Amino acid sequence: MINIEEYDSQNVFAKILRNELPSNKIFENEEILAFSDINPQASVHVVVITKEKFCSFNDFSKNASDKCITSLIRGISKIAKKLNLSKGYRIVCNVGHYGGQVVPHLHFHILGGERLWQKL
Ligand code: 5GP
Repeated sequence: MINIEEYDSQNVFAKILRNELPSNKIFENEEILAFSDINPQASVHVVVITKEKFCSFNDFSKNASDKCITSLIRGISKIAKKLNLSKGYRIVCNVGHYGGQVVPHLHFHILGGERLWQKL
């Protein structure tokens, strides 16, 4: 499992945070940044990341401050409102290799804008 000792500062989201890569910013506050996913899986697909470096949900849940955790959870809700997802949306956090996590910087996906295929 990816953990904090292995944080790779060259991952794409770290580069977006340093403005070394462009992104279509949707929302930003002291703790989090949200931007459009480069390869959208729904008509609305936004990625929400923490500004602080966490490799994965495991790392985040263990090491993040209460302020950061609250800001992320409340932020997701604010972003959904900003994106007019009043009919509903899906939040996804892929964790580690088996979970399908590709980018090793904590992120949540917000998917919506259409009726989503129900897998679970
Ligand atoms: P994961 O599979 O790690 O949960 O999700 C990583 C997400 O990051 C994927 O949905 C992928 O399309 C997105 N992504 C990868 N590289 C970039 C990039 O350079 N810019 C943006 N905006 N999204 C990216």
